[in-house]
Amino acid sequence: MTKQAGAPIPAGTGPLLSVRDLHVSFRTEDGVVRAVDGLSFDVERGRTLGIVGESGSGKSVTNLTILGLHNPMFTTVEGEILLDGRELTTARESELEKVRGNKAAMIFQDPLTALSPYYTVGRQIAEPYMKHNGASKKAAWERAVEMLAKVGIPNPRERAKDYPHQFSGGMRQRAMIAMALVCDPDLLVADEPTTALDVTVQAQILDLLKDLQQEFGSGIIFITHDLGVIADMADDIMVMYAGGAVERGTVDEVLRAPQHPYTWGLLNSMPRLDSDLGAPLAPIPGTPPSLLTPPSGCRFHPRCTFQDRVEGAGRCGTERPLLASGRASACHLTADQKRTIFTEEIKPRLG
Ligand code: SF4
Repeated sequence: MTKQAGAPIPAGTGPLLSVRDLHVSFRTEDGVVRAVDGLSFDVERGRTLGIVGESGSGKSVTNLTILGLHNPMFTTVEGEILLDGRELTTARESELEKVRGNKAAMIFQDPLTALSPYYTVGRQIAEPYMKHNGASKKAAWERAVEMLAKVGIPNPRERAKDYPHQFSGGMRQRAMIAMALVCDPDLLVADEPTTALDVTVQAQILDLLKDLQQEFGSGIIFITHDLGVIADMADDIMVMYAGGAVERGTVDEVLRAPQHPYTWGLLNSMPRLDSDLGAPLAPIPGTPPSLLTPPSGCRFHPRCTFQDRVEGAGRCGTERPLLASGRASACHLTADQKRTIFTEEIKPRLG
């Protein structure tokens, strides 16, 4: 497909976000880090895609790239990112600025990285609304107060005049959600938005995001390493490992009948309420690979305990398995093997 910067196709004729064969690499003193290597996925309007994987799997890099928040001096981006039909990889910074906040917005793990300590919370919510909607100062301030009320800040008219340090951690996260949603973006990217919060506040923020999605109809990308949160929040899941997607499907498909040895490892390493308190957790053996020199073949093969079941000796170390479209997993095991191994060997351990 020919890329045309800023040439939109009519809204609503395809997925809200379509990422195709995305490659993102960084030049470092030690060499080129291939942080994302051939990633493709879609996000539909009104649905939540949960992206799960360990640190360094490429999930955050992917989403910073979608929003054009990478440093172009050191980063090479190839492939296509179509947001509502608009190609973003070739868009100019001025176009990306219009997209950010207006069509797509991000909620970060730490609200202090997104909120400035020098301005009131109300002003920080009002400013993107003025910028993208040409609203007057007064109208934008009213909108900020309305958004603070929507995200559950008590006494919002007064609290809008406070500075971020006068808010608790949970309230700051709510304020950042208000800032992200003030322009009613089509796509919301939430990167580990509740990791820094205690469990009760975490549950409140997740409920808030679900309610707001219903109201605003946004597509959401929800990044986390916590499969429990994904089960609660997402409609679809993409599991990432070492810069690529290894499994994808609906939440029900992936959590009820996972197909990839890495997903089995993630599920097996989750603490369970009913497990013996003294029982050790079962982490995935080994560590994620360096993306300076990623393994050949299947990138999971140095840690995979199932490769000797694959037909063709050494195939996992030489041939990279591809991820088909739709419900799929990138693994050389046959569909029958995946089903049998999960049912007979993995599931009993999960309880
Ligand atoms: Fe394991 Fe081979 Fe499947 Fe990779 S392709 S996950 S190494 S069995």
